[in-house]
Amino acid sequence: MGIAENVGIVRDIIGESASKAGRDPKEVLLVAAAKMNDAGRVRLAIEAGVDAVGENRVQELLEKNGQGAYRGAPLHFIGHLQKNKVRQVVGLCDLIESVDSVELMELISNRALSLRITQEILIEVNIGRETSKSGVMPEALEQIMENASLNPGIHVSGLMAIPPIGEKNSENHSYFHAMHQLFVDIRGKKYDNVCMKFLSMGMSNTFAEAISAGANMVRVGSAIFGERHY
Ligand SMILES: *Cc1c(COP(=O)(O)O)cnc(C)c1O
Repeated sequence: MGIAENVGIVRDIIGESASKAGRDPKEVLLVAAAKMNDAGRVRLAIEAGVDAVGENRVQELLEKNGQGAYRGAPLHFIGHLQKNKVRQVVGLCDLIESVDSVELMELISNRALSLRITQEILIEVNIGRETSKSGVMPEALEQIMENASLNPGIHVSGLMAIPPIGEKNSENHSYFHAMHQLFVDIRGKKYDNVCMKFLSMGMSNTFAEAISAGANMVRVGSAIFGERHY
């Protein structure tokens, strides 16, 4: 199957899941998670109409960017961002989805201020409380949101999560549902410099479930590009 056909299939599933949940399919943004796929393959996904491209390694992103891979599509950073790489992605990425500490938020803000821009970010939540994963614990979210107003170089536009993959759909659903609850709670609290616009969750095997729980941004890799060979 080609990349364009795969994007079509993913779009159909997004459409079905959104409609079933009583939502407009157009409000769900499809981010192509492009790791390990070269610039030419990224271009095919963009031509097939994905809404954005996500990368999770800075080195790979810079290389492909130099090859013009992302022209015509917003670029998201979706991986763990090391503090010493902040200056390389701020301003280059339209959205940094994986901010997981106050310290990282401050570094991004300061870099953005020096470039005279505002960097849009999402806060990554460790909803499965896994020690192996990054993301802030749910109970630490409030402190992060309170700090957003102290960092005028950033704007918090929502939440992101990579929950543990359950064996059953119902296990996935409970994590996605918990994320949606947090999203709605924070939205209700109206923090300064925070606007709960995007809820980014769901990957190739789980995006339909995520949409039914309220995701409006899904990050899909292998269902678009095929299996990755490590
Ligand atoms: C690779 C990746 C995805 C997509 O994974 P697939 O299972 O291939 O769809 C989504 N989010 C992040 C952060 C990723 O690194």
